[in-house]
Amino acid sequence: MLQQTIPSKAPQSGLASRIGIIGGGPAGLSMGRLLKEQGFENITIFEALPQVGGKSFTAQYGDTLVEMGTAYATYSHRITNRWTRKLNMKMGRLGMVRFNGADFMDYVKAGSGPPLLLQIWRYLNARRKLMRALDRPNPPQWAIDQAAMPILDWLGERNLGKMENFMHRSTTNLAYGFIDVLPTVQALRWNDFELMLSGALEQLKFPVDGWAEFWARIAADLDVRLNAKVARVERLDSTVTLSTEAGETHEFDLLVCAIPVDDFVKLTTPTANETIVNASIDWNGYTTTVLVVEDWFDDTHVDSFKEAVIPGAKLGQMLSVRYEGYEPELGGHVYLTGQLTGDYTGPELVELLKADVEKRGGKVTNVVLQKMWKYHSQYKPEAIHDGLLTRLEQMQGEAHTWYTGATFSHEVVSHIVNYNAKLAQRLQKAVVTK
Ligand SMILES: Cc1cc2nc3c(=O)[nH]c(=O)nc-3n(C[C@H](O)[C@H](O)[C@H](O)COP(=O)(O)OP(=O)(O)OC[C@H]3O[C@@H](n4cnc5c(N)ncnc54)[C@H](O)[C@@H]3O)c2cc1C
Repeated sequence: MLQQTIPSKAPQSGLASRIGIIGGGPAGLSMGRLLKEQGFENITIFEALPQVGGKSFTAQYGDTLVEMGTAYATYSHRITNRWTRKLNMKMGRLGMVRFNGADFMDYVKAGSGPPLLLQIWRYLNARRKLMRALDRPNPPQWAIDQAAMPILDWLGERNLGKMENFMHRSTTNLAYGFIDVLPTVQALRWNDFELMLSGALEQLKFPVDGWAEFWARIAADLDVRLNAKVARVERLDSTVTLSTEAGETHEFDLLVCAIPVDDFVKLTTPTANETIVNASIDWNGYTTTVLVVEDWFDDTHVDSFKEAVIPGAKLGQMLSVRYEGYEPELGGHVYLTGQLTGDYTGPELVELLKADVEKRGGKVTNVVLQKMWKYHSQYKPEAIHDGLLTRLEQMQGEAHTWYTGATFSHEVVSHIVNYNAKLAQRLQKAVVTK
């Protein structure tokens, strides 16, 4: 008599779905982990590079770790903060930030309008009202109009000059766009209560072993294929076939697109919504460069400058500098600088940097590493008027495809992962009720 086999675990109907994820950055890895936590067992992640992490990229020189991308976690990073605790990863804390020669909070308080606390209260109330209206399946016209207008005008209408100063650093200085053009919805998503509270209580933190190490540990529990650039995606009636550059093919029931939509549409026959979303966004660039500088500041952690946040300022100017410490192997004091890339090449940006540093009293003696990132997809105002925000939600699940990353939330790990937590639940509900 044949011995009966007992299945190791009765899979919940639908959770046996084969899921392919393109992209092993924070969006793809967190989605993989969250889907696994939901009970999905058959998940494969494809990463083009030899390492995971995407824009979470840590460079190491001697004892000095330099975060070339993802730097800090706020209270909004509640899921990744939970994971770092589970992984027993020690967190360090951001030190003093100087902005335009002053303590950052003094700079904020120097803005126009009523006292800061009153402005924060008014800002958060107006923000809550607008975000709730935008969350409705059919947002009212007043909410769409506010969402599409530049954040500078939205703040100006409410006499929130101190909040404007806050956003010089929190928004433009972090390469989330110039506030005279950045749509209000994108500025409000990022500038939430948790961000302000984290700043006020000096709770901006980072894993001392680096973000790259954090994502490598998250990936260790998942089926991740490295050096596996997806070159083609075919979506048929009930399956999705991925072909890698190396010529392998893999079949799935569902696909998670964790790379920018404009890169994704080049790999496949795009749906109508994918084509529209692709035409609705512009990516800004952000370049980080590691420098060794003589005769410069070492009394503060981050020094940032207003020059490049004045509307109309020349792109490519230095925005901010983080002091990383003394590393004899590199020849002295090490700084990480961040620039808006604009149309400049890497070498041109280095020349601008050298001039900028010199203008501020330092002398660049070594240029160690440069990374030019594709960063922050900015919505076109006319696309918001044409229903972009609703479309980004409605297209989820179309053609067996689910989408994540900066375009669907914000260019920051917290918002991407928090978005994924809800997306993973939606995906699970969709497969179980199918
Ligand atoms: C300078 C800088 C500072 C930042 N500071 C912070 C911060 O302080 N806090 C914070 O939370 N966030 C910060 N961020 C933002 C954060 O790093 C990003 O929002 C996050 O990395 C985006 O994750 P992602 O997975 O969507 O994209 P990415 O990180 O870009 O990852 C996408 C991945 O997809 C892979 N890929 C692309 N195409 C293919 C393909 N065809 N096949 C297979 N794989 C492919 C890429 O190689 C990459 O690994 C910062 C970013 C930068 C650049």
